Amino acid sequence: TSASTKLPFQAEVAQLLHLVTHALYSNKEIFLRELISNASDACDKLRFEALDHPALYEDQADLNVRLSFDAVARTLTITDNGIGLSRDEAIDNLGTIAKSGTKDFMARLSGDQKADAQLIGQFGVGFYSGFIVADKITVESRRAGLPAEEGVRWTSGGAGDFEVDVITRPARGTSVTLHLRNDEKDSAGEYLNAWKLKSVVGKYSDHISLPILMEKEEWKEGENDQPGEMVKTGEWETVNKANALWSRSKKDITPEQYSEFYKAISHDFEAPLAWSHNRVEGSTEYTQLLYIPAKAPFDLWNREKSAGVKLYVKRVFIMDDAEALMPSYLRFVKGVIDSADLPLNVSRELLQESRDVKAIREGSTKRVLGMLEDLAKKATPAPAEDGVTDVTDKKDDAAAEDEAGKYAKFYAEFGAVLKEGLGEDHANRERIAKLLRFASTASDSVSVGFADYKARMKEGQDAIYYITADTMAAAKNSPQLEVFKKKGIEVLLMTDRVDEWALNYLNEFDGTPLQSVAKGAVDLGKLQDEAEKKAAEEAAESFKPLLEKLKEALKDKAEDVRVTTRLVDSPACLVVQDGGMSTQLARMLKQAGQ
Ligand code: ADP
Ligand code: MG
Repeated sequence: TSASTKLPFQAEVAQLLHLVTHALYSNKEIFLRELISNASDACDKLRFEALDHPALYEDQADLNVRLSFDAVARTLTITDNGIGLSRDEAIDNLGTIAKSGTKDFMARLSGDQKADAQLIGQFGVGFYSGFIVADKITVESRRAGLPAEEGVRWTSGGAGDFEVDVITRPARGTSVTLHLRNDEKDSAGEYLNAWKLKSVVGKYSDHISLPILMEKEEWKEGENDQPGEMVKTGEWETVNKANALWSRSKKDITPEQYSEFYKAISHDFEAPLAWSHNRVEGSTEYTQLLYIPAKAPFDLWNREKSAGVKLYVKRVFIMDDAEALMPSYLRFVKGVIDSADLPLNVSRELLQESRDVKAIREGSTKRVLGMLEDLAKKATPAPAEDGVTDVTDKKDDAAAEDEAGKYAKFYAEFGAVLKEGLGEDHANRERIAKLLRFASTASDSVSVGFADYKARMKEGQDAIYYITADTMAAAKNSPQLEVFKKKGIEVLLMTDRVDEWALNYLNEFDGTPLQSVAKGAVDLGKLQDEAEKKAAEEAAESFKPLLEKLKEALKDKAEDVRVTTRLVDSPACLVVQDGGMSTQLARMLKQAGQ
């Protein structure tokens, strides 16, 4: 065989590896989840490629993962018979990080171990998590379709570099061998135990549709006063449920299992806020399991980020093309969609255009909006009927409180993203508008929906008033609000950067027009009494000569100068023409260099 080659890790990998071993030590068992999930991905890939090239199965179409350990050598090995790696693929995939957003991620690492651990978890260290428990990893692999002599061995101590050798490996697929660390406490040693391994598999990998096998052990009594011991029997047994979690019946899945599955697919350390698991019947039939995370990922604003929703066809992973499965304003959703209706052998490009995928996207969008509506409903509990108070115990109260807080939690993390939907999703605009919440002159917390606002509109008020500004303080102190304050009319305060843009797409809510208090001549209509109207008209008349002069003096700067009733204390303010670009939007565009 050829001489071995030593190669350096990409700088980011070296940096990450150092962090992984330190920051993730308290979560060390996730390494097994990551390596099993890679094995499972490798089998998915083989299945997908074999659709067009069945010869890749090489008469071995039963795909599985095997876990084995050697307590004397202190090694733990995860073997799969999936797609495998060529030498070049091993160098590329196990020596670099190809993920988009890597730079951004690296820049956010703070050195604070706890915060970093959370971030690293989200980023998904995948294969490199093996180094949490191992001080050396050996990967042996042979790619499906390549001859046995073109196998590869990859080894690394997880520091600056790795080595690759060409080996002969008759079996297709990959085995990853971890040489477990032996520190003072030998805490990695606990994985040299069948019971421990089974329990970690049960916790993290039960949902994997592939069988995970372990060699059966038997107790053998010692002879001649020797102690007895567990010995391997050469017989393999399946230690996970080996059917995809989403294909099981709801009643057979515990909340913990739902939660662990979420963590496995999202790399999140935190439990999800909500999930929805359904079989959708109709012209396109599919199963959907969709999650709403509790925390925004660090790369929420990175539009090229990898998708959260994966499409399977009869348990075969097909694609996770973000836009094809979920509109961009719901890009925080994670989950799985599995359909038996889609043809397995069409190209991904064709699939994206298919009517079935479009139907799935629509159905999933509706489902997520429904989940959000449910959360929002719980945030405003219905008043007790007929004055009868429920006699519930404290625990229920606490649980209800927890439920009630979920929408606010969701909104704080993802509200700004959801607003993009006003511009992006015409068909669901009304539903989205109902889900929006704002602060207002009547509420400091971001909790006022358009419907709440409407319900307490003043008699004779015929518009929903809002103001946009950079900060809450600027919004609250704007001179534009003076007359509204005086008359006790509520004004919504909008301070998200996206508000201005999004509100362009919403002219009215439930029949009531939306009116920016910073635009045009605010006509308070019936809210103004006759005397006020008269005084304004008279003022406009008597100030005519002054207005003319001001207009002339400001003719390059202002379109019009007029007398207003909107001010109470301030002498003057700037407003934008009705239909004109607001000052806020103009400033935003200027910032963006337009
Ligand atoms: P991810 O799984 O998110 O792509 P990982 O760090 O877990 O990231 O794995 C990096 C890459 O290494 C994978 O994308 C895959 O190409 C390759 N890889 C890892 N494990 C295996 C395996 N068991 N079989 C084949 N390829 C693998
Ligand atoms: Mg992985």
